[in-house]
Amino acid sequence: MKAREIKKTLNEATRTKSFLRSDKYINAQMSKFGLHQIGFQMGPNCNTSCSHCYGDYGPHRKGLPNLKIVKKTLEDAADFPFSGFVLTDGEPLRHENKKVMKVFAEHSDKFPLAILSNGIFARTQQNAIDWMNFLKDNGFDLNKNTNLLRISFGAMYNVNMNNYFRINNAVKKVFPNADVGKHFNYLLVGIEDKDEMNLLGRVMKGLEFSFGKRRRFRFTESKGVLTSVKIYPEKGSPIKINYLSCHPDGRAKNFSIFDKIVPVKDLEVEDLGFSPDLHEDVWISNKGDVTFGISGACVRKGKFYGNVQDKHLLEIVHEINKDSVYQAFKLGGARFLYSLGQQVDPDFKVRGRMRCDICHDFFSDSKMRYAVGKKLDKEGVVQNYKRFINGLDLRKTAYL
Ligand code: SF4
Repeated sequence: MKAREIKKTLNEATRTKSFLRSDKYINAQMSKFGLHQIGFQMGPNCNTSCSHCYGDYGPHRKGLPNLKIVKKTLEDAADFPFSGFVLTDGEPLRHENKKVMKVFAEHSDKFPLAILSNGIFARTQQNAIDWMNFLKDNGFDLNKNTNLLRISFGAMYNVNMNNYFRINNAVKKVFPNADVGKHFNYLLVGIEDKDEMNLLGRVMKGLEFSFGKRRRFRFTESKGVLTSVKIYPEKGSPIKINYLSCHPDGRAKNFSIFDKIVPVKDLEVEDLGFSPDLHEDVWISNKGDVTFGISGACVRKGKFYGNVQDKHLLEIVHEINKDSVYQAFKLGGARFLYSLGQQVDPDFKVRGRMRCDICHDFFSDSKMRYAVGKKLDKEGVVQNYKRFINGLDLRKTAYL
């Protein structure tokens, strides 16, 4: 199946639940090669300690990216047309990471680089400009490829508002000819409360102030929840501010606000959502351990397929791709793994709030993971999936 058709088919599965039972959906998911982007973790040490951080990162944790590992990863990645790197989970733009950032920037013409920053680096205007110049001088060009600078913000980041103004100014000054809308955006992470909406308004005003405005903002909502805002600068593509609703994961688990919305309970397979169009990326920890996942929260001990220091990255990616547990995850997500886990161990019950809790427990239990893998290898991933999806009351299940 061709990539375009796969995309179309998976989109259809997001609209019609019963389509998840079709051979067309199964074929699309099984023939999809989703592991073409690499998420590289820049922590667990971080220069701040956001109250919602899913990884519990912060100054209290040890571990930053290591130059040797970064170089080896880039060297290995050169043998495959990966679509690029995303630097996240920790702060890329900090003094401690300069050497590593230089190497990533030098490769950004070959591997588009998405830098996800919390904006703390812009503590002064000069600092913000220096960082942009540093990236530019080392080859990171905001005019090229899909290179991207994304600033995450929200009340829980606790970053001075002026930092965002300084970043806008620095981007404008250092990359005067860039189509900023294509290469620079913001991500609001939060729980959509008054403080956040206030901040959003100020960030929108800041962008308008720096880049001008040619028409009204455009707000997009889905099911009554804000998903993005577009700001139309004087020239070029609209600059997007995406909204990401905070999940009750990591440190955010302790937020009492979630008690009513997503209560802690004994999870049932039917309680769990699934997003058939999400694709998995390759994730690499700061120590070089490799796994797959839909976000950095999926990087955890017990789920590693190898380390780039000992093996070629492509060999590891190949192992992930042929692993029946990974294939099962692609087809049916965490809820399918939960069902498989319960088939090999009827006592496997997870108490939590969401599907991430299933993955945490499933992959922390090496015996369970092994038993599920064995079952899938023996009976077939697709056969097991068909049994599962045909027996699931899809009316009761959610997408997310
Ligand atoms: S959310 Fe990002 S910036 Fe905040 S502590 Fe976690 S890794 Fe650091």
